Amino acid sequence: MARYTDAVCRICRREGLKLFLKGTRCYTKKCSFERRSTPPGMNTQRRRKVSEYGLQMREKQKVRKSYSVLERQFRNYFDKADQRKGMTGENLLRMLEMRLDNVVYRMGFALSRPQARQLVSHGHFTVNGVPTNIPSFGTKVGDRVEVRESRRARDVFQVGAEHMKSAQVPGWVSVEPAKLAGSVLSEPARDQMPVEFNEQLVVEYYSR
Ligand code: SF4
Repeated sequence: MARYTDAVCRICRREGLKLFLKGTRCYTKKCSFERRSTPPGMNTQRRRKVSEYGLQMREKQKVRKSYSVLERQFRNYFDKADQRKGMTGENLLRMLEMRLDNVVYRMGFALSRPQARQLVSHGHFTVNGVPTNIPSFGTKVGDRVEVRESRRARDVFQVGAEHMKSAQVPGWVSVEPAKLAGSVLSEPARDQMPVEFNEQLVVEYYSR
């Protein structure tokens, strides 16, 4: 499975936004973006005029990298979102939010999406009782996500249970920290999805 392996803090600096890709570190003074918010690389002081295309491309990259999705898969999501009824941009964000790794993150099992992705791919979860280790698995309304019985005693889930109690869980999922389980109650509405994304720019990027 291909994935991004470079320093993830560079992504935040490149996109000019904290994307919370490193768990607890993101909330401390060690956060690279807090210390230096300029884009990575040489000549970071140079101001460049960003074209319309550049803006659209950066927004697309910001959304794509936030969910740790590779370009081809992201394009596939866009094509499917375009075929669905409703606003393409919102459909795209909704499909990304409904991915199993994101649902695990939203439920508070993990401190970041990359950690959630790792927990899923290591086979720690079941969906409706069926072991599932595919981070991109698309959950549906009514699905129940649980830590597998045999994995519950692991430290990472004891920490996860504590985190679930205090996590800001969006209204479209419910959690049961004591059972290390949660359910998808509905598809997220636009105001339940990240406000920092301008999905219209992503639509414009792929509609050129
Ligand atoms: Fe981004 Fe987190 Fe790194 Fe800060 S610590 S730059 S929020 S990944």
